[in-house]
Amino acid sequence: MAKTQTLRSPAQLSDRGLVPADRVGALNEVAARYAVALPAPLAALTDRADPRDPIVRQFVPDARELETQPHELTDPIGDDAHSPVPGIVHRYPDRVLLKLTQICAVYCRFCFRRETVGKPVAPDRAALEAALDYIRGHAEIWEVILTGGDPLVLSARRLREVMKALAAIDHVKVVRIHTRVPIADPAQITPELVRAMKASGKATYVAVHVNHARELSDAARAACARMADAGIPLLGQSVLLAGVNDTADALRDLMRALVECRIKPYYLHHADLAPGTAHLRADIETGQELMRELRGRVSGLCQPTYVLDIPGGHGKSPIGPDYLERVGSNGSAHYMIEDFNGRRHDYPPRR
Ligand code: SF4
Repeated sequence: MAKTQTLRSPAQLSDRGLVPADRVGALNEVAARYAVALPAPLAALTDRADPRDPIVRQFVPDARELETQPHELTDPIGDDAHSPVPGIVHRYPDRVLLKLTQICAVYCRFCFRRETVGKPVAPDRAALEAALDYIRGHAEIWEVILTGGDPLVLSARRLREVMKALAAIDHVKVVRIHTRVPIADPAQITPELVRAMKASGKATYVAVHVNHARELSDAARAACARMADAGIPLLGQSVLLAGVNDTADALRDLMRALVECRIKPYYLHHADLAPGTAHLRADIETGQELMRELRGRVSGLCQPTYVLDIPGGHGKSPIGPDYLERVGSNGSAHYMIEDFNGRRHDYPPRR
């Protein structure tokens, strides 16, 4: 497999016309703090005529990343508070995150783990074995979510080893892989890597992170098809981002494109309070209004759940609009239910 060319510095981004030459100095400061990588296949999707270019906005560093707000957190979803051993996050009773690497194919400017990803930490086999021992020792763990970094930057051989170890743990029934690689570097989703994604006797799901329909290039669609054709169910994870997908049209196009690729939209995440990302966060009211518009415009297949990861590690909660209201009291209590046109209807209080 030929190695994909990746732009890794403001100077390289400038050479490709993605950063004005006079901003390179300022952006070097950003790059010294937060990892930068933009693979050529994704860079090729930029459109210089588009002032709201979703590729530039998501992946090209911005000087505003150096402005940290008082309420932003280095560990916004509280991974550390729920990490019993290195590489494991055990937040919910029946599932764990297993972090296999800190490396990603592309570095998102809004990343919730931006303080840790991109560090060239050599994978430590002893630490991985200790993390697997933790899973072996906790019979309540039904699902293992491979994350990082991005687990699909690993070689097929290394991924196969991990899957083999998980396949041998009886109580683990589901393995979920969270990845950006099919979008960022689709050629890496080789038939060999797809075979390595499967843990024998377990259900493997792949959650693909996509935030704008333009990311689903022909090559990315083909990479997703290789996984779907191999029988791997695909889920879509998206982040609501100001200036990227915070319009009803952009979200409609994204959700439809996902479903066309056999990717079921799963979560629309409210952007986490990661340092230096305020310029990319939309407000919650905007997110709720967009979810309302989506409900009226597109098929149920295209509806993700809008969620917020509660800062401090308290898990996700749905924050979409409410459609049901209980009104009146005692004998006159009943419900009002809102339809997709915003009209309200009575619903009786009893079965
Ligand atoms: S691919 Fe995921 S972990 Fe990597 S930079 Fe993007 S959001 Fe962060």
